[in-house]
Amino acid sequence: MQKKLSITNLAVTILGGIALLITNTNSSGAAAGGDMNDDFGITKWKDGKKAVFMLEFDDSCVSHVKTAIPELVKRSMVGTFYINPGNGPYQSQKEAWEKKIPKMEGIVYANHTYKHKGAPSVEVLDEELALCNEAINKCFPNMKQPRLISFGQPGGVPWEISNEEKNKLLAKYNLIDRPPFFGYPFHLKTREDVLKLVDTAIEKGEMRHIDFHGVGADWHVTPTDIYIDLLDKLEANRDIVWITDPVSYHQYLTERNASELTVESKTANSVTFNLVCKTDSELYDLPLTIYAKIPAKWKSFTVTQNGAKVSSSISDGKLLFDVAPVNSKIVIKRQ
Ligand SMILES: [Zn+2]
Repeated sequence: MQKKLSITNLAVTILGGIALLITNTNSSGAAAGGDMNDDFGITKWKDGKKAVFMLEFDDSCVSHVKTAIPELVKRSMVGTFYINPGNGPYQSQKEAWEKKIPKMEGIVYANHTYKHKGAPSVEVLDEELALCNEAINKCFPNMKQPRLISFGQPGGVPWEISNEEKNKLLAKYNLIDRPPFFGYPFHLKTREDVLKLVDTAIEKGEMRHIDFHGVGADWHVTPTDIYIDLLDKLEANRDIVWITDPVSYHQYLTERNASELTVESKTANSVTFNLVCKTDSELYDLPLTIYAKIPAKWKSFTVTQNGAKVSSSISDGKLLFDVAPVNSKIVIKRQ
């Protein structure tokens, strides 16, 4: 048995290792959780990162403009701001929210309703969602419309409508409900609790997120030094943690679960994959990351998706590259 195995391995080597690429013709790594032990597949998270972390900020607090955003921008880190454009704090920093901040890379706006009134009726919530989306689109006139926008339900206000009614309105405005509110000082009581969340995300290989209100001021305040420690910890783990926004997380997860990657054909110097992706490509347009083991003797190669060149990199002996989440042929060709 031992001997037989090594003969097989030898044969594989002699054939240039191509077989490594095609041994797994089942569905992509998606179903298997993107395990990097597979020979090819869709990585569990974008860019082959181990875990996901999201920073979310509610109520358009003045301290977001003064503290939270500058600290994110300093680190080119993504943060998502659930704004209430009809409320006082936003209005007092209108110029910043509408002109300056939208130009800063990584800052994402999300819908927390126009005036944080809650949902005393379907009609009121309908208007609150529409006005907030309109304000967000005014801040980002160059972003495509329609597109998915994250929704964070305002807390501490009347909520008289059913989940079904809420979901109908969210669908009407292409809003994606975010993961349940989780933050300091409610669920996380200490600095250690806050920092540990990053470790938990990495250990589990899953998404964790923190929702903030005030940072160093305003209400339900997270002390600035704890906030900075968190950002520094994320910065230190950047190569393994995908720091992103709730829409990108939702898109990646949805696309990955709706995709299948199989080997369609192979030659001595190329492999053709077939990608089937069942999501709506207008709203689900975040690239998926593919990994594929390449024979060691392939020193130079090209990757194309439906004929268009795709850039790639080598990580842990595997080729990594992004593709559009659409039905397509992906070809890796030795040069
Ligand atoms: Zn709120």
